[in-house]
Amino acid sequence: MKEKKNLWYIFFWLTLFSIIFMLVNSSRQRSHEVDLEYSQFKQYIRSGNVSKVLVSSGIIKGQFQDSDGVLKKFRTVPMNDPNLIKDMEDNKVLEFSATDKNGWIGPILLNWGPIILLMLFWLWLMRSVTGNGKHMMSFGKTKAKIASNTNLKITFKDVAGCEEAKEELQEIVEFLKNSDKFQKLGGRIPKGVLLFGAPGTGKTLLAKAVAGEAGVPFFSSSGSEFVEMFVGVGASRVRDLFDRGRKSAPCLLFVDEIDAVGRHRLSGIGGGHDEREQTLNQLLVEMDGFDTKEGVILLAATNRPDVLDPALLRPGRFDRQIMIPNPDMQDRKAILTVHSKKVKLDGNVDLHVIAKSTPGFVGADLANIMNEAALLAARNNQKVVNMKNIEEAIERIITGPQRKSRLISKKEKKIIAYHEAGHAIVAKFLSSSDPVHKISIIPRGPALGYTIQLPEQDKYLTSKSELLDKLSVLLAGRVTEELVFSEITTGAQNDISKATDIATKMVTEFGMSEQLGPLRFSNNSANSMQKDLVESDLNHSWKTFEIIDEEIKNIINITKNKSTEIITTKMNIVHKIVDHLLEREKLTGKELDKIINGESIIPLCHSL
Ligand code: ADP
Ligand code: ZN
Repeated sequence: MKEKKNLWYIFFWLTLFSIIFMLVNSSRQRSHEVDLEYSQFKQYIRSGNVSKVLVSSGIIKGQFQDSDGVLKKFRTVPMNDPNLIKDMEDNKVLEFSATDKNGWIGPILLNWGPIILLMLFWLWLMRSVTGNGKHMMSFGKTKAKIASNTNLKITFKDVAGCEEAKEELQEIVEFLKNSDKFQKLGGRIPKGVLLFGAPGTGKTLLAKAVAGEAGVPFFSSSGSEFVEMFVGVGASRVRDLFDRGRKSAPCLLFVDEIDAVGRHRLSGIGGGHDEREQTLNQLLVEMDGFDTKEGVILLAATNRPDVLDPALLRPGRFDRQIMIPNPDMQDRKAILTVHSKKVKLDGNVDLHVIAKSTPGFVGADLANIMNEAALLAARNNQKVVNMKNIEEAIERIITGPQRKSRLISKKEKKIIAYHEAGHAIVAKFLSSSDPVHKISIIPRGPALGYTIQLPEQDKYLTSKSELLDKLSVLLAGRVTEELVFSEITTGAQNDISKATDIATKMVTEFGMSEQLGPLRFSNNSANSMQKDLVESDLNHSWKTFEIIDEEIKNIINITKNKSTEIITTKMNIVHKIVDHLLEREKLTGKELDKIINGESIIPLCHSL
């Protein structure tokens, strides 16, 4: 605060000083000049004493010889005098001219303008450096858009799918609705909630819906808006956002792309980015400084939770994190339903078919389909949107600039389904393997599909047979692809790297190779095992290295064979799992058990 005042004093004195300087300077110039009456001026002309005349609008200047014969400058105010020129000619005025520059302000501005501008620029820099964003201009104010509830009628109904997220956010809604009641009950509410998920999965929409459901104002801003060129602007914008929030509590603050400010402080080229760090610090300070009692809740969204500074995720800050998944087929259909309300659909349009043919699409893509289709229909002067429009729209979006990699083709989907079914079936039929919790062929992050196994209890020791089974499960995806399609893909890359790691550790760290015995051949447990081997243990003979390689290969071969054996004998079940996966894109452990036992599982409800 004090700093702010000082700056203002400096500004004030500088301005005063420069004005005084300008006045003194100009009056000094004027002091050389004699002020003449117009009549005197004419007299001097007639007496032949004027040697120079310069006429400009509002003033006449020149040189004359006074009665003592001294050459002096003069100035006078011009009058409407058509004879002036004739008089001057007649009376031997040597030089006379006219100009359209007026008086002394022009030259002064010309001389001083750049200096004044420089001064203003310097002041502006000063204030942005010290982060004083309040008074001068409105530079540094948040661009937070105030969207009050009256014109923002978005509720949870407008957000299809994401049921789990909605359930979690319901608590925030209740709190914002009647914060007094909540506090009396002693309920603890998180200060900040972090929504994370792929772009276009509806994070912003959900945030708006929370505000809409609770009927409170919604202030949104984006992390990238905070990080500006000038140091201090971001911090002052953060301050401003929170100030606004406090003034209109209860309300919801939303920061999109929080990773733009919240990136891990040590990450990034060059280590530090002053502006971002300052902004992040301000954000942390504001979060620590406000109390949920005030009725303000901060929601933030990111698609990169992994790069966030851990300080942001500490208790009392974004201590609640909600994942917004990519929509599965049912969700996609629901999203399409929401967005098809705005357009007139032909009777032949089947949203289920569209949902089925758009694996990998997120909410924004689906909304886009409906938009594009409506545009296409309008272009053809159709009254309703038909299936052909929608198919064309899908194609446009797939081949569009951003979404190229999103859509998974039918063929790919089938390969992914077999790959995951392979993992699942091997996990199921190996005694030391953890139970399968979930199989999914909905892409998540870099993975095209995934099979999750969860241990029945916490484990601190892992046996050799458990590790071997783990390897069999890891290799099962590739093995199934090979068996079914007689062709292998890059999809198993991650499995293979994990398997290599485990097998290498078994031989070089865990002493699980019979041929080599319980000896350690590696320096540490870093991933780049081979390098460490060569660099740190050159005292081992090349023969030993060869045996290590051989043992690792052996382990992989044995487990791969085991995998192949299980999959071959259970191939009919694998086909069944794949059928179900293609239909519903994900299966729970229980559903998997039913399929294996030949029981039927609850069919999908097709008429949503
Ligand atoms: P994000 O913030 O995750 O990038 P947005 O919330 O900006 O995504 O979503 C962009 C648009 O996509 C929304 O305005 C909405 O039209 C559509 N959309 C995304 N997800 C959904 C959903 N679950 N239900 C309905 N529409 C959605
Ligand atoms: Zn795999």
